[in-house]
Amino acid sequence: MLRLPNFNYVRPRSLKEAARVLADLGPEAMAVAGGTDVYPKMKRGQFTPRYLVSLRRLQELRGIGPEGKRGMWIGAGETLTAVSQNSTVNKYFPALANGAALVSTPQLRNMGTIGGNILVDTRCNYYDQTFFWRQAVGFCIKKDGQICLVAPKSSKCLAIFSSDTAPVLSSLGAIASLVGPQGRRRVPFAELYRDDGIDFMTKRGDEVLQGIIIPRKAFGYRNIYLKLRRRGSFDFPVLGVAGTMGFGKDGTCLHARIVLTAVSSWPVVVDAAAQQLEGKKVTREAIEAAAEAAAKVSHPLDNADMEYWYRKRMTRVYVRRALASLSGIET
Ligand SMILES: Cc1cc2nc3c(=O)[nH]c(=O)nc-3n(C[C@H](O)[C@H](O)[C@H](O)COP(=O)(O)OP(=O)(O)OC[C@H]3O[C@@H](n4cnc5c(N)ncnc54)[C@H](O)[C@@H]3O)c2cc1C
Repeated sequence: MLRLPNFNYVRPRSLKEAARVLADLGPEAMAVAGGTDVYPKMKRGQFTPRYLVSLRRLQELRGIGPEGKRGMWIGAGETLTAVSQNSTVNKYFPALANGAALVSTPQLRNMGTIGGNILVDTRCNYYDQTFFWRQAVGFCIKKDGQICLVAPKSSKCLAIFSSDTAPVLSSLGAIASLVGPQGRRRVPFAELYRDDGIDFMTKRGDEVLQGIIIPRKAFGYRNIYLKLRRRGSFDFPVLGVAGTMGFGKDGTCLHARIVLTAVSSWPVVVDAAAQQLEGKKVTREAIEAAAEAAAKVSHPLDNADMEYWYRKRMTRVYVRRALASLSGIET
């Protein structure tokens, strides 16, 4: 049995205090919300914090509802179950309800938060192993080692970003509300991530994600999330496709945004696919061209479940299905 190592547990009473404690304790501290990613990783020696700063009792991280005139607010501390069962989310953002409902199992969705899902660590077959397994292969660049075991010539870590809700929020044009010792800043989802398996967030270590704002205009968009995984009951995605489209009265596509998850170290926004659709009446040919554009930028590697060439091939299929469903066209 893998045991949790010793650590100090800090329970701040406010968001401001949490940010200050994280800043004061520095790199030896880590925030924990539901702990469904943090605790297993501590048991496997992937995370080695001396201090865990709990966000669980912070009321400022709660709430799902209107955000003034700006749109909709979802507190980072809301569980995935709460998000997936919220009536407004289900009515206007079925992609988000579906993405949240497809994470792991009911038990983990009852504990796991949407904030933790947005910030969940990147994954790799050479990294998501016990300490002893990793030690036996000489460790990898993401933790304790020098080289990337999936691509030894790569100078950067190629672990995969596999969140189910982040691509949906990115496709909806959502904004992350971050609070640090210096105050608050709002960051669009497209700018929240970088293409680096280790340093995949632009959020600073002392910043707490308070919540997410889905902009008002997104209420008028159709949206969808499709997930490919080995077991339908529970598994991380080996490919996820989030799509959002807005249409004019005459059926012209005015807005399109396609975002892929689990094919890179960050959620991949496929602008080239959107360009095939925007400003046009959507046709089968346009959908095919958009699906082709998405497959082109999808670069799965041999470090997750299923063959990488199959996951690349399925990108085209899943994007085609998503766009056909959004535009009501049979392909
Ligand atoms: C068996 C299993 C299956 C899983 N399947 C899936 C899956 O299919 N899809 C999927 O996307 N995930 C999956 N997960 C990963 C994880 O359970 C979810 O991503 C979950 O939403 C994480 O939320 P949490 O609140 O438990 O995060 P935690 O474990 O508490 O934290 C995760 C990370 O986010 C940081 N963090 C959390 N909240 C905040 C905040 N408000 N501000 C700043 N930093 C914060 C933590 O410091 C940590 O780095 C799975 C996990 C397990 C163990």
